Amino acid sequence: MSSSPTHYDLLIRHGTVIDGNKAPRYDADVGVIDGRIAAIGPLAAHTADISIDASGRIVAPGFIDSHTHDDQAVLSQADMTFKVSQGVTTVIAGNCGISAAPLRDDMDLPMPLGLLEAPVHGRFTSFKGYLDALRATPSSVNVAAMVGHSTLRAVVMSGLDRPADAAEIAAMQAHVEEAMQAGAIGMSTGTFYPPAVKATTEEIIAVGEPLRARKGLYVTHMRDEADKVMEALEETFSIGRALGIPVVVSHHKVQLPRNFGRSSVTLPFIRDAMQHQCIGLDCYPYTAGSTMIRTDRGMLDGRVLIASSEPHPECAGRDLADIAREWGIDKAAAAQRLQPGSAIYFMMDEEDVQRILAFDETMIGSDGIPVGEKPHPRLWGTFPRVLGHYSRDIGLFPLETAVWKMTGLTARNFGLHERGRLIVGHHADIVVFDAASIRDTASYEQPATPAHGVDAVIVNGQLTWAQGAHRGNRAGQVLMRRAPATDA
Ligand SMILES: [Zn+2]
Repeated sequence: MSSSPTHYDLLIRHGTVIDGNKAPRYDADVGVIDGRIAAIGPLAAHTADISIDASGRIVAPGFIDSHTHDDQAVLSQADMTFKVSQGVTTVIAGNCGISAAPLRDDMDLPMPLGLLEAPVHGRFTSFKGYLDALRATPSSVNVAAMVGHSTLRAVVMSGLDRPADAAEIAAMQAHVEEAMQAGAIGMSTGTFYPPAVKATTEEIIAVGEPLRARKGLYVTHMRDEADKVMEALEETFSIGRALGIPVVVSHHKVQLPRNFGRSSVTLPFIRDAMQHQCIGLDCYPYTAGSTMIRTDRGMLDGRVLIASSEPHPECAGRDLADIAREWGIDKAAAAQRLQPGSAIYFMMDEEDVQRILAFDETMIGSDGIPVGEKPHPRLWGTFPRVLGHYSRDIGLFPLETAVWKMTGLTARNFGLHERGRLIVGHHADIVVFDAASIRDTASYEQPATPAHGVDAVIVNGQLTWAQGAHRGNRAGQVLMRRAPATDA
């Protein structure tokens, strides 16, 4: 260390570092210069423009939300308060087959494409156009984005009730190639959803062909997360093998009471497959899911809360059973009348959720839907809920492991270069939080409330959240994927 004092842009003093790689915590100061972590160690003798006292606090890499639908929110709600207030500094967008680009101005958006809220910049006809807009008007978080296969089907095909033909596959391939050239990190599918139910395994492999050479990711909301979850996992892995690329199983779960407990079968199956190919998975820390309003019986058997409804916005936050009773019709008919919109479905078992969260390769992803006034509480609460409730309060795993599941592991799986670990030279995405008090406050009744215990959030060296308030900085960048040489 030089004898003359260094002047830092930002200095976090007296904190306890958790590095994002499961290493045990240690006490250190952290200095930031030009958006990078410049030094970690005893830096008390040095000066800084901004000094943060982190006594008694954890200093960790900013959290990476591995599963989001923030594609439009990063443009229209660019402060991204629902994420930065949790300590999130990077979001992965373009999940479940849905992306903000490419679209046509003259097309209707079938659900669930409509879940991405109305664009403020107009529609993007190319992926490059979308990423250019993000670069021109940055949000408060970094964004790594995928192109969605359902979006490609909607933009290319004349009808969605059949597999794509050869010409349509060629057109979709060209869009995937354009997206990858522009900086997409891969392609997602959502074969669970109407626009892609009829897509065959062969169609997905063919459309994804441009991912092979560019080592893009294949990320999927699988065809089935209930009775046929094993078949769906096998299909997912076969697509990864056919293209020679890594796969990510989105929001892994086993749905419906008759499937409760089956995570004790899916997880060993995933672990076995990991011996032969590159596989990741993520999970949100709740027993309820949220998606477009559906009318299929299985989805309506348990408790259903309406999150948003275009024709009946007054029903947001209400129980579907109560609405149906009031209207004197059954739940399926009421659900139909409330479409299009989104709902919260209680259809998982707490034991499965805990087993999947605790699986050592599981990343944390919110799957939050940033639309309406009564979203699923995961939008505001996912990361503090894992750190507070699951790690500290019930001891599901150590804090170092919890942090790794939302930083180092995620950066590795998505190929986010120099992110996700608190080491010198990395980008200065940092969160300072109180391990003793961090907790989620968002509930199903009051879902849009910030976490307790997050002291400061720094994105690319810029102080973005401090003392319970947004600081106005929008320093987010568009992140590209750098595939490690060992991939595939
Ligand atoms: Zn999904």
